[in-house]
Amino acid sequence: MHWALVGASTIAAEHMIRALRRHGEVDWVVSGDAVRGRDYAARHGIAQATTDLAEVLADPGVEAVYISTTNEKHRDQALATIAAGKHVICEKPLAMSVADAVGMVAAAKAPGLVFATNHHLRCSGSHRTVRRLVAEGRIGRVLSLRVHHAVFLPPHLQGWRIDNPGVGGGVIPDITVHDADCVRFLTGEDPVSVVAQAGVSGMGQGVEDSVMSVWTLPSGAMVSSHESFTHRFAGTGLEVHGTEGSIFARGVMTQAPVGEIALVTAKGTEAVPFPGDDLYAVAVDEFVAAVEGRGRPAADGVDGVKSLAVALAVREAAASGRRCDVDYGG
Ligand code: NDP
Repeated sequence: MHWALVGASTIAAEHMIRALRRHGEVDWVVSGDAVRGRDYAARHGIAQATTDLAEVLADPGVEAVYISTTNEKHRDQALATIAAGKHVICEKPLAMSVADAVGMVAAAKAPGLVFATNHHLRCSGSHRTVRRLVAEGRIGRVLSLRVHHAVFLPPHLQGWRIDNPGVGGGVIPDITVHDADCVRFLTGEDPVSVVAQAGVSGMGQGVEDSVMSVWTLPSGAMVSSHESFTHRFAGTGLEVHGTEGSIFARGVMTQAPVGEIALVTAKGTEAVPFPGDDLYAVAVDEFVAAVEGRGRPAADGVDGVKSLAVALAVREAAASGRRCDVDYGG
């Protein structure tokens, strides 16, 4: 398969180029800056760089595009890519509004293109194992979930995320959106309403760098979720508590296949092993399978719409101080 990168980004450099190359060649990189684009292409062995997305979309050899620009660009770049008849893996959050994200998904549906959202956490062996334990009824009826995803944003990622709301900065579009997908993936439920408080704890300049929220699921199960850019030593984790047991997954809200899972029931505590596959490789493998007519991407466009809807409800609830229903855009 022949790919193009839209966005000379860190995430592509650190994870996605390697994953895409498992399935062919990365032929192009599109950057807003000609020099940056050329340097990036040279550094990563990509044959061609351009500032003109249309040039890439006119290349009949390119079959799929990976979009990892800042968030405000995703919508127009995805719509242009879809109009050119190419499949898309788009970074989260899909767009700046639910309505825009819904429009992107609808545009891809009509011509039958595969449109995926890069929610890597649901590609991890740890999350898939937790999901299996829940689905097998090992903890009975789910009562509540706790998501701890308060991390320290490394200096090389502190740019637009901490000071530019216009391009999608803030911890809510950055991390809450992943946690929303994680909860949906584990429970199969779409949060109904949320309450939240957000704040600045040392990094954000004009955007929130920390947020705590509580969500209600249709079953009545409750979720507490904590995201931050400023917590150096908190570690990450995921807990699912049920009538017959609890699952403690520690260190699993991450880009690497690490962490540990403990299942606690009346029988005692059991360490549960899980596969250690590269999360981004799994995401691309499943995207390519979907393009080839085998299955669906790990997270499709609808998943991206819904994770964004929850995150934006959290932001609205924090701003208003009120409980907000999640608006999934019809
Ligand atoms: P980056 O800041 O690395 O890249 C975003 C854009 O910023 C690039 O497209 C590039 O513009 C520009 N840029 C990058 N580096 C520089 C630089 N040194 N100087 C000037 N401009 C620069 O962002 P990330 O890779 O962290 O995130 C990109 C997208 O991916 C976001 O939507 C984010 O939410 C998502 N993401 C997803 C992750 C996941 O695991 N699913 C993890 C991390 C990010 P240009 O292309 O015009 O050159």
